[in-house]
Amino acid sequence: MSPSDNSFAPNTDELLENNRRYAVGFDDSHLEVNPKRQLAVVGCMDSRMDTFEILGLRHGEAHIIRNAGGVITDDVIRSLCLSQRFLGTREIILLHHTDCGLMRVTEDSFKAELEAEIGIKPWWALESFSDPHADVLQSIRRLHATPFITHKQHIRGFVYNVETGLLEEVEENDKAG
Ligand SMILES: [Zn+2]
Repeated sequence: MSPSDNSFAPNTDELLENNRRYAVGFDDSHLEVNPKRQLAVVGCMDSRMDTFEILGLRHGEAHIIRNAGGVITDDVIRSLCLSQRFLGTREIILLHHTDCGLMRVTEDSFKAELEAEIGIKPWWALESFSDPHADVLQSIRRLHATPFITHKQHIRGFVYNVETGLLEEVEENDKAG
């Protein structure tokens, strides 16, 4: 558990107040369900990354799919498949980043710890990694390998630097995954 558990206070009530203020000036009601730029972004859930701000995107322009690490899991493929087949997207951007939480744990120790504590070893992969660049390559390769994503001509992957705010592109010939 996190060391700050003792001082934790839930946020939801305050956030609901924020939402009421947000809705006062709301003018997104004209937006369509199909992303205007025909773009899907798959990124890490890291709290320091605002996908819209990082890429200068506006509401209604792209699908944003996020999980721990921005890993291409079966559920991400499910979302991308829907995104392409029903909502018309044709381009995929992958957004991993430096100092990712998944670089601080290892698959084996994480699973052993959980099994010792609660008696059940997770049946899913943690997908930890040590090099975010190599992990972007792994993700690009998984996208090319799956049959459920049919539009693969425009797939690019990046590592977001949490120190500078800049993106660094990762390409297939950069490094072995
Ligand atoms: Zn991360």
